[in-house]
Amino acid sequence: MSYQAEYIWIDGTNPSPLLRSKTKIVETGKEPGIWGFDGSSTNQAEGNNSDCVLRPVFTCPDPLREPGDILVMCEVLHTDFTPHPTNTRAACVEVAEKFASLEPWFGIEQEYTFFQDGRPLGWPEHGYPAPQGPYYCGVGGDKMPGREIVERHTAACLKAGLSIEGTNAEVMMGQWEFQIGILPPPLIGDQLWVARWLLFRIAEDFGVWATLEPKPILGDWNGAGAHTNFSVKPMREEGGWDVIIAACEALGNKVDEHVTNYGVGIEQRLTGAHETAHYTKFSYGTSDRGASIRIPWQVALDKKGYIEDRRPNANMDPYVVSRLITDTCCSVLL
Ligand code: ADP
Ligand code: MN
Ligand code: MN
Ligand code: MN
Repeated sequence: MSYQAEYIWIDGTNPSPLLRSKTKIVETGKEPGIWGFDGSSTNQAEGNNSDCVLRPVFTCPDPLREPGDILVMCEVLHTDFTPHPTNTRAACVEVAEKFASLEPWFGIEQEYTFFQDGRPLGWPEHGYPAPQGPYYCGVGGDKMPGREIVERHTAACLKAGLSIEGTNAEVMMGQWEFQIGILPPPLIGDQLWVARWLLFRIAEDFGVWATLEPKPILGDWNGAGAHTNFSVKPMREEGGWDVIIAACEALGNKVDEHVTNYGVGIEQRLTGAHETAHYTKFSYGTSDRGASIRIPWQVALDKKGYIEDRRPNANMDPYVVSRLITDTCCSVLL
């Protein structure tokens, strides 16, 4: 008897990496184990020295196959088992271990856009749909293309045991969101990458392409972000308010380092319009959806809780973003 293990990894495509995966048939009772692939076909190696190593870092049931089949999220290593330059998880693990005593937690709101025939799903062949307004959390067949895929994806995440928290339709027609959390690094990255893989894979069945493009349609249409919600234990406890402000100030001292690592194309999305702060500016404020960092109203009321970094793009790497936020905020707290 055997089962199927789908090995998933992040490739080396510039400027935004893609997910890759392949299937391994494993004898029942055996672990999935180390595997390899041809890095010269994924922008991760030269043809004359092409072997890269896949090391499993997170597994869960595969909700799209039979009971016993699994998904295997992997990190990419050189053949000497040192991390490959595209392996952003390794550095995330280091920072997570360094600041483990502060118990960092993340919840990420992943926005994305469905495409078909070169345009957002449900959009007319020529011109535009009715302007933004009715689509956010909307209902009605003329307005909400893609819901069937969203339903399938949510059910699949639950079946896989991922910490999916909810979904909603977004401001632009054809754009949706799901949230994953609350999880520590690097697990937040592992689960978000697997949830993305499931989204892409399920959309295939509908002849649809789900994209993390941060500004899929230029002009008066919302971009796609990945708001990153963050807390450490002292923020969640009595006296948390002062820690929250200290974290916001710390983020304000490292604007460039963060913004340049929050996803390719961030200048197009963080324009100061469409519920964003301009990428060159930094601000934080209660309930302010035009600020870089929003402090939710409930948090301001309780004087403890978490902060929302609204800047990361939909196409950000959660290993990079969770590492940077943890490092920047925790460095001023320890
Ligand atoms: P909104 O759309 O109003 O910005 P969502 O409901 O989409 O908010 O997402 C809220 C996110 O905040 C969720 O991902 C959740 O996990 C996260 N979150 C809630 N509490 C905490 C916390 N203490 N630490 C980190 N993240 C948190
Ligand atoms: Mn949200
Ligand atoms: Mn949203
Ligand atoms: Mn948000």
